[in-house]
Amino acid sequence: MHARPAGKLEGTARGDEAQALLRNCVHCGFCLPACPTYRVTGNELDSPRGRIYLIKQLVEGGPASETTRHHLDRCLTCRACERACPSGVEYGRLIDLGRELVDERVPRSLPERTLRKGLVDLLSRPRVFGVVLRAGQTVRGLLPAGMRARIPTRPSHRPVLLAGGHPRRVVLLEGCVQPGLAPGINSAAARVLDHVGIAVERVRGEQCCGALAHHLGASDRALEQARANVDACCAALDAGAETIVSTASACGLMVKDYVRLLAGDGVYAARAERVSAATRDLAEIVEPDDLRHAGREAGSGPRVAWQSPCTLQHGQRVAGRVEELLEAAGCTLTPTSEATLCCGSAGTYSILQPALSGELRKRKIAALTGSGPEVIATANIGCLEHLRAESPVPVRHWIEIVADSIGRSRT
Ligand code: SF4
Ligand code: SF4
Repeated sequence: MHARPAGKLEGTARGDEAQALLRNCVHCGFCLPACPTYRVTGNELDSPRGRIYLIKQLVEGGPASETTRHHLDRCLTCRACERACPSGVEYGRLIDLGRELVDERVPRSLPERTLRKGLVDLLSRPRVFGVVLRAGQTVRGLLPAGMRARIPTRPSHRPVLLAGGHPRRVVLLEGCVQPGLAPGINSAAARVLDHVGIAVERVRGEQCCGALAHHLGASDRALEQARANVDACCAALDAGAETIVSTASACGLMVKDYVRLLAGDGVYAARAERVSAATRDLAEIVEPDDLRHAGREAGSGPRVAWQSPCTLQHGQRVAGRVEELLEAAGCTLTPTSEATLCCGSAGTYSILQPALSGELRKRKIAALTGSGPEVIATANIGCLEHLRAESPVPVRHWIEIVADSIGRSRT
């Protein structure tokens, strides 16, 4: 697709980048069936190809309106279209650019800007979020059913993060909403890592990974958070940590992407590259054999439906690995359908686009529960909470299920 950058983009590095990204699209439409929003609405403007046309229009200085922004806002940034595209179009980069351009040309209303800023402020500050969450949990029983479903009950005890005393050490990122919503996930990860001979440590000065701010258009805030995390992680790597590990696939993807985000930063580029190169999803550092030797016998664990978050399968391109680990831990995987389609969580999408998000969740739960699983496993706190609110069966992080198998093998 040929595009001629115009206006403020003409003759700039940003314009050249936009042109290069758009050039790969040959309008074939192979990406359309992979797109969750197109599958729901059937509107070409809610498809990757339609959105790419809107972005080309923005790059060329063509008309831009609230309708343009509406269709770009409805994209989940799930990147299923990237996987389906035979021409290697980097859609994730294109949608970021399109959103920046439309926000510059068609500014949001004050209430919208306030809501978006409020979401970044609330969700990327663990302490503030923890206070609000505890208040919500206290009055949970008095709330209307819709709101009640969004608030998980308070865990009966706060799990201890086992540090372990092993020569191999990794940094386990805390995340921002996960410690409040599901503190058992990182402690389960620490138990499993201890079992395979890896100690975990926290880093001082960790901040939100920046994904929330980045996707809500607060680019400066996202860069600030990324730089703080690069400083914190480099210090840990210098002190001997071998890997940066996240149990939330969305955060892991963001940290892996620091290399691109900070590429133009003379001070941080090289260190961001180091941090991204050292970052792994948890599933990439636990070996199935370690679990086979110590876990339950094959088939003796629960029947599990696996939901791979988009940030894991399309973003990080980690596929098939968690399934292997769950089976090695004795679980039986139940058949599911539409495995590449987003569940509708997508960060704050479930708050900002509740209708589409709710429809996608309904479809995803039906696709996951058709074969009668006892539990749904996932790898990202956003997907976990989004599905949990409506699921007829429990939804857990896969590492919690694996940690249970180790616990039982020791008794
Ligand atoms: S993004 Fe890829 S799959 Fe979609 S229309 Fe363009 S070239 Fe075809
Ligand atoms: S990122 Fe997801 S929702 Fe957005 S266009 Fe691609 S497939 Fe559709």
